[in-house]
Amino acid sequence: MKVLIIDDSPDAVAVARVRLKKDGLDVCVAPDGQTGLDMAASEKPDLILLDIAMPGMSGFEVCHHLKADPNLSMIPVIFLTAMDDTEQKVRGLELGAVDYVTKPFDGFELRARVNAALRTKRFADMLIEHANVDPLTELPNRRALTKQLEKEWARVERHGGSFSLIMVDVDHFKVVNDTYGHSVGDHILRSVAQVLAGECREVDTPARYGGEEFAIVAPNQSTDGATTLAERCRVSLEQMAVEHHQEQIQVTASFGVADSTNADSVIELVEQADACLYEAKAGGRNAVCCHSSAVRS
Ligand code: GH3
Ligand code: MG
Ligand code: MG
Repeated sequence: MKVLIIDDSPDAVAVARVRLKKDGLDVCVAPDGQTGLDMAASEKPDLILLDIAMPGMSGFEVCHHLKADPNLSMIPVIFLTAMDDTEQKVRGLELGAVDYVTKPFDGFELRARVNAALRTKRFADMLIEHANVDPLTELPNRRALTKQLEKEWARVERHGGSFSLIMVDVDHFKVVNDTYGHSVGDHILRSVAQVLAGECREVDTPARYGGEEFAIVAPNQSTDGATTLAERCRVSLEQMAVEHHQEQIQVTASFGVADSTNADSVIELVEQADACLYEAKAGGRNAVCCHSSAVRS
C-alpha cells in the first residue's frame, strides 16, 4: 500500500519514510500543500500523513480540498500535530482526518497508527468493491453503471464530445433456465459477460444491468462506432457455445444503441437505447438497432 507524506520538514519526513519503508509500504513525499494535492491525485495513495504547519497552504486547507474532491475524499488522512495543541487535534479530526500523531513523533507509534488506518482503508475498499461489482458475473453492477453514465454525462457537458450506451438483452433466456436449470443459466450469464467484456476496449464499461440484461458505456463513440461494437458482440455471442453434458448450448442477444448527442439527460439516453432494444426484439431478436435503423443478421 502507498503512503503520501505532505510535510516541509526534511527531518520528520526522513524518520517517517524509514519507518514506513521497513513495513514494506510505498512512500512518496510532497514538500508543500499544492504539490501534495497534485500527488494525491496522480499517485492515488491509500493514506496521507499531513503536516499542519507548512509555508503557503496549511495542512487544514489541504485537508479541506481533499475532502471536497470526490476522487480524493476517501483517502484517510492522519495529521501531524504539535505536541500539546488540543485545538489543532480537534480541528483536524473535525475536518475529516481519521487520526493524528504528535510531533516530534515516535517511529513505532507512527507505524501503529498508520497500520490501524490502513486496516480500516482495506476494509472500506473491500466494501466499496462489493457495492459496485455484480457477484455472479464480476462485471460492474447497476449502481456502478449509473455512476459511470453520470460521470460520462458530466464529462461531455464540460468538455464536449459524446458517448454511447448499448443495452443488451439475452434472447429467450427463460427457455434456457426452464430447459437446463438455473445453475446452467448462471454459467451462461457468466460466459455472456466474458464475451461482452472481451469485445470492449479498455475505456468501455461493460456492466450487468440486471437479470439477463447487460449494458456497455462506450466513451467517445458515436452511434456508428457503438453499433460496430454491438455488432461484434452480437456475432461473438452467436458463436459462443457453452458445453453441458456433451451438449453445446447456444444463446443469442438483442442490442439497442443510443448516443448522448441525441438525448437531453441520462434517463432519456437509457430510454432511447431501451426503445432500440425493444425494436431489435420485435424485429425477430439476435439483432442490433440504433435510432430507426436496424442491422439484422
Ligand atoms: P426475451 O427474448 O424477450 O428477452 O425473452 P427472455 O426469456 O429472455 O425474457 P424474460 O424477461 O421473460 O425472462 C428473463 C429470464 O432471465 C427469466 C429469469 O429467470 C432469467 N434470469 C434473470 N436473472 C437471472 C440469473 O441471475 N440467473 C439465471 N439463471 N437466470 C436469470
Ligand atoms: Mg429481459
Ligand atoms: Mg431476455
